[in-house]
Amino acid sequence: MKVTQAYRYALDPAPGQVAALASHCGAARFAFNWGLGLVKAALSQREAEKSYGVPDELLTEVPWSLYGLRRAWNAAKGQAAPWWADNSKEAYNTGLDGLARALKNWSASRAGTRKGPKIAFPRFKSKHRAALSCRFTTGTIRVEADRRHVTLPRLGTVRTHESTRKLARHLERGTGRIMSAIIRYEGGRWFVAFTCEINRTERAPARPGAVVGADLGVKELAVLSTGEVIANPKHHRSALKRLRRLNKQLARRVGPRTPDGGRRQASARWAKTKAALGRAHARVANQRREGIHKLTSRLAATYGTVVVEDLNVSGMLANRRLARAVADVGMAEVRRQLTYKTTWNSGRLVVADRWFPSSKTCSGCGAVKAKLALSERAYTCIECGLVLDRDRNAALNLAALAADVAQSCGETRNARGGAVRPGTRAGRAPAKREPRKRGTLRRKPEAA
Ligand SMILES: [Zn+2]
Repeated sequence: MKVTQAYRYALDPAPGQVAALASHCGAARFAFNWGLGLVKAALSQREAEKSYGVPDELLTEVPWSLYGLRRAWNAAKGQAAPWWADNSKEAYNTGLDGLARALKNWSASRAGTRKGPKIAFPRFKSKHRAALSCRFTTGTIRVEADRRHVTLPRLGTVRTHESTRKLARHLERGTGRIMSAIIRYEGGRWFVAFTCEINRTERAPARPGAVVGADLGVKELAVLSTGEVIANPKHHRSALKRLRRLNKQLARRVGPRTPDGGRRQASARWAKTKAALGRAHARVANQRREGIHKLTSRLAATYGTVVVEDLNVSGMLANRRLARAVADVGMAEVRRQLTYKTTWNSGRLVVADRWFPSSKTCSGCGAVKAKLALSERAYTCIECGLVLDRDRNAALNLAALAADVAQSCGETRNARGGAVRPGTRAGRAPAKREPRKRGTLRRKPEAA
């Protein structure tokens, strides 16, 4: 099975290499800003020419595509950036490509041919705020045979923090091909992510006939219909405590904003705490990601059919606290991972309709409650007297849903990453529908 898969490694660059990595990312930002300045100048030039009555065919041309921007950059780089040869040309290409995409998205959004929220005209990237990243698509991109180094254009050979074994094996066997590499600074660390075309060996789940329902939550990562409870990662809570402490510390120090909203020079101590806070945030995110990866890998490797809920919009409407939002980000991620992992394992993913009343339904007799407060941790059925943990009950309902789907549309294989979306169960009251929440499921699969 041919898939596009990313392999991401933390880097341990030498001090000189750190400067070169930062320089490449800065060059990408510079090219973006330079191109945007050019586009803006050309646009206002055009406006002025129009007001003088210059005919349309003689108006100044605005470089809008990557091709046009790159041509303009190559003509001007000697003047605009005499230091351009310090970085790979891919760095400038990254910035110009980002700009061309932003411009295209803006015009498509304005013309109404683009789905999703309205896209604003691109803005200049700030040195202090912009994320540091740069993409390489050509040149020497290689994983070294010692499995502890990677080679990138202009940057040379950089040591990786962990072994590149999994990717190296694919490359050595000829079942994998690197298509591009992205360097990125995140949470106080440099990373490289290789986008690869991998020919994966077909796998089957350990129990192809088995069905599992997973109710994802805040308190626990998930409760399975088998009764198993998967707790949040152990150190998660202490990391949150540290986060709270650092936030307080940051508030006490002299930041870039004065109390009345003006700007000022931030203190070195503020910057230090800010960096520590960034690392603490990254740590929480890493712990959560690890827990989610372990859960989804195990579910996809064990069960033939996995059933999860769609994003819990109704739950969010009932309770607008941050915790629900955090959980929903996790749910979107679990669903994204299950989608590709079930495909990789020749399994099936069933996503319950978001209005499927998984919590309010009795898993014993099928009776649906009109109301169930979030504080009620146990489900008590007034029809048949069943008493069960709330999340377990929801997980059992989800598992039962898979049988309904199999009946209504036969054996549905999750052929190309597409999830099966059943409607509400027969005989149960469908709830009203609301528009879909956007922008949560846009990322490519990461290395498992
Ligand atoms: Zn019941």
